[in-house]
Amino acid sequence: MILVGLIVLGFPSVGPGERTLASSVRLSAERSPHPSEPEAGTVPVWARKNEAQRHTMLESVRQEAPQERDTCGYRLVLVDRPHALPRGYVPNDLVSLPAAGVPTVSGRNLVLRREAAEHLKDLTAAATADGEELVVASAFRSYLHQSYTYERLKSIYGPEADTMSASPGHSQHQLGTAVDFTNWVAAYQVQPIFGHTSAAWWLRDHAPRYGFVLSYPPGRDETGYRFEPWHYRYIGVENAERLQESGLSLQEFLVREGVSPHC
Ligand SMILES: [Zn+2]
Repeated sequence: MILVGLIVLGFPSVGPGERTLASSVRLSAERSPHPSEPEAGTVPVWARKNEAQRHTMLESVRQEAPQERDTCGYRLVLVDRPHALPRGYVPNDLVSLPAAGVPTVSGRNLVLRREAAEHLKDLTAAATADGEELVVASAFRSYLHQSYTYERLKSIYGPEADTMSASPGHSQHQLGTAVDFTNWVAAYQVQPIFGHTSAAWWLRDHAPRYGFVLSYPPGRDETGYRFEPWHYRYIGVENAERLQESGLSLQEFLVREGVSPHC
């Protein structure tokens, strides 16, 4: 909206007032004492000034608003039941997890935002070094994919599906920064038994070092979702540290410090 307004400012519609201004400027430009300046007819002085102002203003707007925010990929964006992502939102820097060296179920070509994928690679490598098996079962899910997931669960569980899966547009998976883990014990599926494995305990202790945090912890019903020991979201290493120090759940932390989707 701001950008549209600025563009309108930069390129004013030619009303009667402007026509008068343009002709008076052309007259003064013709009398310019500086013949080296460009022809008045190509770049009028008033237009050059407006263009310069427009660039300055656009630059200050860019500096105020992080670029990530423009693409909804802000690390602390709040996506929950009341806060939705647009239907067509897809992050613009998704990369293949297997290509990044992250194990996925059956080597599926799951994708995640680049920064999250790079940190996930370090996380899974550290788990392997400690003798734990962590495999990614789900990563980025489009709005349409989430629709299928949600409708499938609803057809099986009815209204209870709302505590198990987000409705389309309300899933952290659409951000491209959330993953579901599994392993051999959990039969490489997303299911509660994963929470009883040493790999899940390892994750609780180590994931924040890599910027990943548990989105839906046990005993915290403010999200409206059950405990999901497999679901982690990347929020950046510094934010994960601050979250741990705060003692808040991710939901409470995002309500306090997060931003609404701006896309
Ligand atoms: Zn999940």
